Amino acid sequence: MDIFLYVMLFIMGTFFGSFFTLAVYRIPLKKDITHEHSFCPNCNHKLGVLDLFPVWSYLFLKGKCRYCGQKIRIRYFLLEILSGIVFVIAYASFHIQDIFLDTEKEIAFLAFVFMYITMVIVSRN
Ligand SMILES: [Zn+2]
Repeated sequence: MDIFLYVMLFIMGTFFGSFFTLAVYRIPLKKDITHEHSFCPNCNHKLGVLDLFPVWSYLFLKGKCRYCGQKIRIRYFLLEILSGIVFVIAYASFHIQDIFLDTEKEIAFLAFVFMYITMVIVSRN
């Protein structure tokens, strides 16, 4: 087992989770998801680089906005961790490197991705 690879996959997953929560928040509000800088929905202050690291920023800031002190919902933190775990499990279970050589694995993997995306969308409500 390559620990470094799993740590990197986990970190990559947390960034994806962070982006998914951003998209799920902004798309219904018809806000831009790629060009608009991240901001606090309470005080509208633009977030700095140190505020944007998934999981670690939440822990470092003790779950509060650095600028106004508003509590950040724990579900964002949990979704980032969950996304990291999902990435590790997906890699470990499906052996992504040879997934497209096996139709059954491909279908199982797509079902897994679909369940994951559904989970993220449902968590908004
Ligand atoms: Zn704020």
